[in-house]
Amino acid sequence: MASNLNPVELSIVVPLYNEEPNIDYLFERVESVLKRLSTSYEIVCVNDGSRDNTLKCLVEHHHRNPAIKVVNFSRNFGKEIALTAGIDYATGAAVIPIDADLQDPPELIEELVAKWREGYDVVNATRRSRAGETWFKRFTANAFYNTIGSMSRVPIPPNTGDFRLLDRRVVDSLKKLPERTRFMKGLFAWVGYKQATVMFDRQPRHQGTTTWNYWRLWNFALDGITSFSFLPLKVWGYVGLSISSISLVYAGYLVIRTLISGIDVPGYASLMVAILFLGGIQLLTLGIIGEYLGRVYEEVKGRPLYLVRESYGFDQPQTENNVNSNSFEESQKQ
Ligand code: UDP
Ligand code: MG
Repeated sequence: MASNLNPVELSIVVPLYNEEPNIDYLFERVESVLKRLSTSYEIVCVNDGSRDNTLKCLVEHHHRNPAIKVVNFSRNFGKEIALTAGIDYATGAAVIPIDADLQDPPELIEELVAKWREGYDVVNATRRSRAGETWFKRFTANAFYNTIGSMSRVPIPPNTGDFRLLDRRVVDSLKKLPERTRFMKGLFAWVGYKQATVMFDRQPRHQGTTTWNYWRLWNFALDGITSFSFLPLKVWGYVGLSISSISLVYAGYLVIRTLISGIDVPGYASLMVAILFLGGIQLLTLGIIGEYLGRVYEEVKGRPLYLVRESYGFDQPQTENNVNSNSFEESQKQ
């Protein structure tokens, strides 16, 4: 096991996409917290195909402090995948993913670690408030957490991002989940274990802008719901059943009415309504089946989750997620 080879206590995992203006301040704050904790640590930074000088900055910091390690992706794979890679590469007895934009205060790491030392396996950091976010963002986030909370078969804690502490046994369980659609909040909840929660106030972004527009968030929400619930697929069976029962009753009524008062021609409006309504429902259900089918297709292709162009500071590749571990080692720089 990698953790035995390299006895690091804390691994901080940071996904970064175009975060150049935040890096110096991020390390300043994270390192001062880690120093106070006086423990052995590593900071695993995953550069998710940034187009600015994020990689250059990270490598400079790696030379200054070898505990800062860098994984450089071959392109942008998205935050969830970057986080997965960081967790794969982390060797610590506890792993803490944190955003690079300092929306999650690094000072909270002390509280997370204290709870972990009390014996919890997962320590969630839940947002009490979200500063610097519009009411619309807060409204949609709440709607999302309510929807997924009522649909998912595992309870997903609301207002809890990826900032949390994971014990080594949780990390090892997470690594066994092979799915490509990686809705990390859900996966963290799915593995279970002994969980605790600490509260914090979410800060506005330090510098830069978020890359998550509403279309991306909508797709992220779809990923979450389809990965953790079959309800959207199942519900149409019941809708179909109710519509057929109502139609049957209506058909009976029409037969009786025709018998009593003879044939009556008008009916265009009701016919059109029925056809359009049913047509609409059929397209909707096809769309939902498509959402699931697309994801099944994604899974069966079995492509590697991510490709690493080079890495800095690691002794050896940690997972089979790198397609070709030989080429990985060749390009590795120490
Ligand atoms: N991020 C990433 N890849 C992406 C988009 C974002 O690694 O494609 C990182 C980003 O650098 C940051 C974290 O994910 O560290 C959260 O991103 P952001 O602040 O844009 O999201 P928000 O806080 O709005 O959810
Ligand atoms: Mg952010």
